[in-house]
Amino acid sequence: MNVIHLSAECYPVAKVGGLGDVVGALPKYQQAAGVSAIVVLPYYDRKFVKENDFEVIFESNIVMGPFIGPFQVLRETTNKLGFPLHLIKIPGLLDRPEIYCYPDESEQFLAYQIAFLEWLKNFEVLPDVIHSHDHHAGLIPFLIYHSSRYKSLSQIATVLTIHNGQYQGWIGWEKLNLLPDIDVWEGKLLEWGDCINPLASAVKCCWKYTTVSPSYLEELSTNSNGLEKLFIAEAAKGVGIINGIDTDIWNPETDPMISANYTIETATEGKAANKKLICQEFFLEDDKPLVAFIGRLVGEKGADLLPEAITKLLLKYKNKVNILILGSGEKEIEEGLANLTSTFKENYNVFIGYHEALSHRIYAGADFLIMPSRVEPCGLNQLYSLRYGTVPIVRSTGGLKDTVVDITEENGYGIRFEEADVDSIVAAVSRAVEIYKNTTQMQLLRSRMMSLNYSWHQSAAQYINLYNNLKSL
Ligand code: ADP
Repeated sequence: MNVIHLSAECYPVAKVGGLGDVVGALPKYQQAAGVSAIVVLPYYDRKFVKENDFEVIFESNIVMGPFIGPFQVLRETTNKLGFPLHLIKIPGLLDRPEIYCYPDESEQFLAYQIAFLEWLKNFEVLPDVIHSHDHHAGLIPFLIYHSSRYKSLSQIATVLTIHNGQYQGWIGWEKLNLLPDIDVWEGKLLEWGDCINPLASAVKCCWKYTTVSPSYLEELSTNSNGLEKLFIAEAAKGVGIINGIDTDIWNPETDPMISANYTIETATEGKAANKKLICQEFFLEDDKPLVAFIGRLVGEKGADLLPEAITKLLLKYKNKVNILILGSGEKEIEEGLANLTSTFKENYNVFIGYHEALSHRIYAGADFLIMPSRVEPCGLNQLYSLRYGTVPIVRSTGGLKDTVVDITEENGYGIRFEEADVDSIVAAVSRAVEIYKNTTQMQLLRSRMMSLNYSWHQSAAQYINLYNNLKSL
């Protein structure tokens, strides 16, 4: 079985969120299970690319409407990630430092997909499956089944994984001429809501689509930023597979990014040592429960609720709880969170920005991790938090619902709440403050959480099973 993963992100080359984590890990576990899985990414002018060796394995030109230009395919030479990593480089389009937010993002990802197909046409042995992740690779199914230029590829099965259905890659119809030699009478397969919608097109044209948790699959038919009717119509093609975590990287016993390594047996002392250091780093005292938030500061994550919820909590529990935030995103939320430091400097601090190593130190040192998400397709933070013995406090939605069992239930280990609002956050953290007083219960929760197995092994096997079943479609 030969599979090619196409994605905008792949840790540690380029990561903004969970997509990067998944594409950096799933192919490695698929390789270990006997599948030949490779990753093809846009080229980025970033640290990993500069510090590792790549060889050019293919060169040609792409034509994208009026744009005609050369491209190269580069391959990493040492198998550093546990799977073959390829980058597509196009001067002026795919050679930039950032992953997203350029004004010509449509052209950027379209060029990536066209260049990939131009390369693929030259393969001696075609892959069994092309696995597109999110809208950035969403036009691939349409192009290989409905462009005369790629007819030779039309036997390849296509799978789409939806990591986040909120973002769909909308492109105006005036850019239709950028797509090569398409069957214009099939234009409906590109469309949703009066524009070219790469995510919707992928759902229509792929053989199977997956979501990163079973609950998120259900939720898409009622809440998917305009695609609800599409998901109802295409439901037979959908499968929910929960993400795993890369237990080589996220392992408190060996993690080089944390100060004190620990196991289930040494979690109490190990976490206390990490907590002491992270508290020192952020001028907090370590004798109080430490509640952390890590993530994108956007409405989807409920981050806009945090400034008011933190204010209420820190007024309610004067000097009895500490709160630490790591994140970046919408300016207004960043400012709201930054402004609180002067009011609550004894018990609160924030780091605005993206900082991978700091996130590891916080997972290791915090007692609780709060996720008040409005939408959470899978959520990896709560899985890392479980692995590091940090009690997740989560809103019951998407993957959070599928992976966190409330402590009031049999063998429960987390705190769940129903509504994404300030009072529910305050009530949930209040439960955490009470639990923290019971050190025996905290120890029991830690060992329960750290015994859970969310490794990629099971989820990678489910993807392989899905690939195998494609043959019978
Ligand atoms: P999403 O992909 O929607 O942002 P996920 O929970 O699936 O959310 O994945 C988030 C990933 O990004 C986790 O690995 C988390 O630790 C990481 N992350 C998010 N924000 C930051 C940040 N500011 N600094 C470091 N890591 C971050």
